[in-house]
Amino acid sequence: MFKNPNYARLIAGALVHELAHVNGAPGGMVSKAAEATLPPCGFDDLFNPALVGMNSWRPVRIEMG
Ligand SMILES: [Zn+2]
Repeated sequence: MFKNPNYARLIAGALVHELAHVNGAPGGMVSKAAEATLPPCGFDDLFNPALVGMNSWRPVRIEMG
């Protein structure tokens, strides 16, 4: 699966999107703030104008240390 170099770009673009959320970009059905970080970061080809934030919350357990 990861032999195709396009997958590296998909993963990098997903990381940029998710890091935007970590930095405060809201989720929800109307915000495109996280997705809008892709073009300025060189991922114009991965930008999906139809994509919005999460449509539901589910708890995520993160164990530190
Ligand atoms: Zn998002």
